[in-house]
Amino acid sequence: AKNHGKGHLAEFNAQLGADSLRRMAMERKLKEAVRRDEFFLNFQPQFDLASRRIVGVEVLLRWQNEELGLVPPGQFIPVAEQSRIILDIGHWVLEQAMVQNLAWARAGLPMLPMAVNLSALQVHQHDLDEQIASLLRQHAYPADRLELELTESVIMDNAIPVRRQLEQLRRSGVRISIDDFGTGYSNLGYLSRFPLDVLKIDRSFVTDIHVRPQQQPIVQSIVQLARAFGLQLVAEGVEREAELDFLADLGVERVQGFLLARPMSAQQMAELLAAQQDL
Ligand code: C2E
Ligand code: CA
Ligand code: CA
Ligand code: CA
Repeated sequence: AKNHGKGHLAEFNAQLGADSLRRMAMERKLKEAVRRDEFFLNFQPQFDLASRRIVGVEVLLRWQNEELGLVPPGQFIPVAEQSRIILDIGHWVLEQAMVQNLAWARAGLPMLPMAVNLSALQVHQHDLDEQIASLLRQHAYPADRLELELTESVIMDNAIPVRRQLEQLRRSGVRISIDDFGTGYSNLGYLSRFPLDVLKIDRSFVTDIHVRPQQQPIVQSIVQLARAFGLQLVAEGVEREAELDFLADLGVERVQGFLLARPMSAQQMAELLAAQQDL
C-alpha cells in the first residue's frame, strides 16, 4: 500500500461501477431465467466407500444463458440471493429434483436420496417446511428420499426459528445434512440442539489429506463427532486414490468427488444407475 493517489481511487471506483453494472445485468437476466427455461440440473453421485456403489446423489444447479454462456453457481447464486430471486430458483430446484428422481424410479432405476442445496434465504422463510411438505404431497414423493444440505452459517443465523423448521421437516422424514462442515463456526453446540442426519466434510480438509499431517487430526475429530452424535459422514472433493484410502482408514463411509464421478447430466446419471443395477 504505497500509493494512495487519486489515480488508484478513480480506477477503484471505475472497477466498482463495472462490477455493479455486471451484477445488475446479471440480475435482470436471472429474473427471466426460470421462465425462459435456462436452468438445468447436474447430478453428482455419492458412493459407499467400501463397496463403491452409488448410495446418493447431490443436485447441482446450472445456468445456461444466451449471452453469458454457462455461468458457474459460485457467480450467479450470490446475485440471486441478493435479489431474492433465489427463492423462486430454489423452489424450482426442489421440485425438479423430485420430478427427476420420480422419472428415474418409473424407468425402473433405484430411488436414491437426492441431496438439494438450500440457501440461507430459503431456510429463513417461515413457511419452508410447508412449501416442502406441499411439494412432497403434490408429487407423492417419499420424504426419506430428500436430503437438504445447509451450511453451518445458515443454521446458526437466527437459530431458533430455523430449528423449528428443521424439526418439522425431519419429523416428516426429510433428512438434514450440514454442508462444508468444519469451515463455519467453531461453536459446535448446535450439533446437540439441531435435528441432523449427515455431516459433509469440506473439500478443504480432504484435499491432499494423505500428505498433510496437520489435517489428519481435524478429520479424525470430525469422524468422532459424527459417531458421537449418530450422524452419517460424507467426504466431499475426493480427487485421489490416496485420499480415498486415508478416508477409509479413518472410517468415513460415504464419498463424493471427481475421482469417482464428476457432476453429470440427468441422462448420464440414469445410465450410471442402470449400469450399477446390472452388476
Ligand atoms: P457445494 O454444495 O459445496 O457443492 C460441491 C461443489 O464441489 C460443486 O461445485 C461440485 O461440482 C464441486 N466438486 C465436487 N467434487 C469435486 C472434486 O473432487 N474436486 C473439486 N475441485 N470440486 C468438486 P458447483 O456445482 O460449481 O457448485 C458450487 C456451489 O454452488 C455449491 O457448493 C453450492 O454451494 C452452490 N450450489 C450449487 N447448486 C445449488 C443450488 O441448487 N442451490 C443453492 N442454494 N446453491 C447451490
Ligand atoms: Ca452441497
Ligand atoms: Ca459442500
Ligand atoms: Ca463448498
